[in-house]
Amino acid sequence: MRLLLLGAPGVGKGTQAKLLVEKYNIPQISTGDMLREAIKQDTPLGRKAKSFMDRGALVPDDLIIGLVEERLGKTDAKTGFILDGFPRTIHQAQALDRLLEKLDIALDLVIDISVQQENLIERLSNRMVCKRCGAVYNRISLRPRVDFVCDKCGGEIYQRSDDTRQAIETRLQVYEKETAPLRGYYAECGKLHYLNGDQTVETVHREIVGLLNKTVR
Ligand code: AMP
Repeated sequence: MRLLLLGAPGVGKGTQAKLLVEKYNIPQISTGDMLREAIKQDTPLGRKAKSFMDRGALVPDDLIIGLVEERLGKTDAKTGFILDGFPRTIHQAQALDRLLEKLDIALDLVIDISVQQENLIERLSNRMVCKRCGAVYNRISLRPRVDFVCDKCGGEIYQRSDDTRQAIETRLQVYEKETAPLRGYYAECGKLHYLNGDQTVETVHREIVGLLNKTVR
């Protein structure tokens, strides 16, 4: 199963991808997570990406495309994957098409999740994330049982450095300008489905599973 999750920052792509990883045992390929890991490890890629990420801008396409090409070539991606946060530009989408063609595979389904703008800002500005397992919390609506400690793995919970008011604003603007046009791109190939992300995590998950059951053999 090869699934692409589209949608603005904060619609719940990462949360949904993690539930699907558990259910279907295929990897989540999140370019955002990969870049944060590169920053943590202080690699050349991480050093190049950090300033773009902190201000909410996109990391240059050539860096991202190389990263995804390498990741898709790994053994665990052979049986399927969930793309989360890639592609984010038309140029990246075209590069992905070329990569998939080279690997002789195709996406099964593209799901565009949408959430009302005011809910997105509320979610992102109150979001807290586990450093170790990536579980997502919300300072108001989904607090961990113990402050700053992940319920799932005991890891430390922190606020991402790009979940600040200024960077959130930039990220949402960048999304509208660079990423929203991907809906048109994927609508053309007939694989695009829309989903209302203002519903509960469980409802969105059920609807994604329903779409997958209908689409993927
Ligand atoms: P995310 O975790 O998906 O919200 O991504 C966090 C940040 O990483 C974004 O705001 C960008 O700076 C960078 N990033 C992640 N994925 C991409 C991508 N496909 N293209 C360019 N920049 C990306």
